[in-house]
Amino acid sequence: MCPRNPRPDLAAPLEGMGIKMNIENMVKSSRCVQCGMCSFVCPVKAVSMVFNKKRGFYFPRVSRSLCVDCGKCCKYCPAFHNDKKNTLMGSYENLLLAHSNNMHIRRGSTSGGVINELIRYLIEKKIVKAAIVTAASPYSPVLAEPVVINENNIHELLERPRDFASRYVSVPVLSKLREVKKYKGRIAVVGTPCQINALSMEGIYPMEVIKIGIACSGGMSCQATEQYKRYMHLPKAAMYYRGEGWPGKNSLKSKESVLEFPHQGSLFERMFTSQIFKNPACRHCHDQFAENADISFCDFWNRAEMNSEKDGNSCVIIRNQLMLPIFQGAVEEKRIDIVRSLREEEVIETQMQVLKMKKGNMHENLKFKIFMHLIDIIFRFKLYRIFRFRIYQKFCSFYGRLCSESEIDLAED
Ligand SMILES: Cc1cc2nc3c(=O)[nH]c(=O)nc-3n(C[C@H](O)[C@H](O)[C@H](O)COP(=O)(O)OP(=O)(O)OC[C@H]3O[C@@H](n4cnc5c(N)ncnc54)[C@H](O)[C@@H]3O)c2cc1C
Repeated sequence: MCPRNPRPDLAAPLEGMGIKMNIENMVKSSRCVQCGMCSFVCPVKAVSMVFNKKRGFYFPRVSRSLCVDCGKCCKYCPAFHNDKKNTLMGSYENLLLAHSNNMHIRRGSTSGGVINELIRYLIEKKIVKAAIVTAASPYSPVLAEPVVINENNIHELLERPRDFASRYVSVPVLSKLREVKKYKGRIAVVGTPCQINALSMEGIYPMEVIKIGIACSGGMSCQATEQYKRYMHLPKAAMYYRGEGWPGKNSLKSKESVLEFPHQGSLFERMFTSQIFKNPACRHCHDQFAENADISFCDFWNRAEMNSEKDGNSCVIIRNQLMLPIFQGAVEEKRIDIVRSLREEEVIETQMQVLKMKKGNMHENLKFKIFMHLIDIIFRFKLYRIFRFRIYQKFCSFYGRLCSESEIDLAED
């Protein structure tokens, strides 16, 4: 928990938000991005990430008997450090369209399986000792959890790539940092922009970390998955959001059956885009492409690509001199195939709707404020339980219109 007598350097950003000095207040003020960093930095293990079933998110819980008021949980909370940068994508050295050369991984992954392939390359070549990734939970058909991959369990990435593809739920990835400390060497972490931003703060982690970012339009409540499964009358089935080619399928797998729909235009995709299940904290995010990562990944939602591509390609944003030779090494070993170079404008265009939300002036729009208020009520009172495809579609269309009205205003340097 943060100090009762706030230190001036911590108080300033908090005062700006009009909230008191307590990491639990991040939850109350809907600012918690559920990254798990507070639980890692707490020197007395007073903070734990606890799943809130009603809201469908993990939130930090502080044990008051253990807390020593050191303030670290607030100091390293990325919600305090999310200034808008003056770029749309962040700086980079190379921009590529690529895929894993292993067809099982390529088709089982979210886009081109390059993250999966890169993690295996990093561990096999001993460039890192371990990596934190996210996987479908073996204990719950809804939850996903952070998992440490090392040379002993690396085969799982190859055997079950779909378990390690994008899970459209919020996952406290950084809570696993405590476990990887024992490796005493370089590690890799795959995370969303907020998680990468938390990791990028100075003095946060004693060892070197390769930061692998994924683009993110917002963390999702597990309630979306629960609701989707209820619609489909398969409440116990395990959900796979993407994979089985590109753009992939939403699959519900139970012992008796497998129900699948193409992700694009599906009910689940409409639920995702309607914003009803998104974490309200993500409305304050200004980073779509994990600008502080060493390498970032996203889907290439280009019209021609969507018409022609069936197996999947990842858009790769190599950001620095550390990652250039490593990525080149994976290409030379024929683990990753480069399809072509990409132009920044092409990539930006494919993510324009989210960029308008994250980098634009949408928050000043009264219609946007009313819309957000409305979806908060719908989520809180579970009114979505009576919604069908067409209603979600209407929310998506309205949100799309609001985004198109937004003007991008980048911060001055
Ligand atoms: C909530 C969410 C929103 C996203 N929004 C966008 C978007 O707006 N635009 C876009 O282009 N791409 C988005 N992505 C990223 C996209 O889905 C792919 O992850 C990306 O294209 C990389 O694909 P790949 O085949 O190379 O990766 P894969 O080889 O499939 O690897 C995916 C990696 O993502 C990690 N991961 C999976 N789920 C989570 C999670 N919930 N939290 C943290 N890490 C996770 C896993 O550790 C895995 O290593 C989003 C992903 C998530 C999880």
